[in-house]
Amino acid sequence: MQEPFEAIVISRGDDKVQKVETRQLNLDDLMDGDVLLEVEATTINYKDGLAITGKAPVIRRWPMIPGIDCAATIVKSSHAGFTAGDSVILNGWGVGETHMGAFAKYARVSGDWLIKRPANISAMDAMAIGTAGYTSMLCVMALQRYGLTPASGPIVVSGANGGVGSVAISILSKLGYTVIASTGRPEEEDFLRSLGADDIIDRKELSEPGRPLGKERWAGGIDAVGSHTLANMLAMTQYGGAVAACGLAQGMDLPATVMPFILRGIALLGVDSVMAPKPLREEAWERLGHDLDVGKLHSLSKTIGFDEIVETAHALIDGKIRGRVVVDMKK
Ligand code: NDP
Repeated sequence: MQEPFEAIVISRGDDKVQKVETRQLNLDDLMDGDVLLEVEATTINYKDGLAITGKAPVIRRWPMIPGIDCAATIVKSSHAGFTAGDSVILNGWGVGETHMGAFAKYARVSGDWLIKRPANISAMDAMAIGTAGYTSMLCVMALQRYGLTPASGPIVVSGANGGVGSVAISILSKLGYTVIASTGRPEEEDFLRSLGADDIIDRKELSEPGRPLGKERWAGGIDAVGSHTLANMLAMTQYGGAVAACGLAQGMDLPATVMPFILRGIALLGVDSVMAPKPLREEAWERLGHDLDVGKLHSLSKTIGFDEIVETAHALIDGKIRGRVVVDMKK
């Protein structure tokens, strides 16, 4: 364990231009924490793509090891809740942003950030789910807490071919909801239907500026896209419905009016995964163990090795990745 190990490191000099490289690090290079993890698997999320491409200011401490998620085995722990050998999952909490992250053989973190990996979810499947899939579950739970059931009407999912969208479709379908998938990749229709989408719409129907109120087309929605798409989803939600919003793939603006709220009683439910409290995370992961079809999870994910992380992160931001990517650290 004293031998150097490989890590992806993002650094920047006085010119503020960032450099991404694979470096040999020692445990002393990691940051403080009461648990040392050996990373079994990790994944590439949209946020990791933004960090590696430098397209948005995700990294707030240099140098930084990116990677916001991992499934890991505990090597050493002085945290009361965990001992060496435990299998755990880590999502968010600023890991890969302000605290050295998961794109390395080892990570040293706070035990307060960890949850025990449910026995019925393997390390690889946990990362096929990752923050994107766990956020999809948080969105579904938000719609259910609001009272939307399959009998309420269809649910529209934007960014359907992405990580959040593809997992959301799979979960909603398993729970019996009728799902409308909005995508810019109509050639993936068969794939989206295989996940459980009942209807496919072209994302252009939602991504252009629209009217304050439109025809009532769905009972609710899960939005990973923001901007005009979210505004139009709200404008086309039926009376009393709700949209869970978690993403900004189109933009961080929300060019909407108050009309859906004041004339149709629509609710906008914000969803954050990064700082979500532990009981909510545990509930989401427990539910992922039975509300997500493992066969569908495998069909929407692909596995890569550590050496392919950087190029895959660029491809994800270019919209060229379908579903989810798992990084097998032993590959
Ligand atoms: P992906 O890159 O996997 O998917 C994003 C999808 O959005 C794309 O596949 C594409 O779907 C669609 N899309 C991309 N660009 C545009 C555009 N310009 N206009 C409309 N649609 C577009 O990312 P994820 O699914 O992992 O994440 C989606 C969003 O959710 C990101 O903004 C991410 O930051 C956010 N997120 C937020 C979390 C939170 O805690 N709130 C947690 C996890 C993610 P298609 O090709 O089907 O049209």
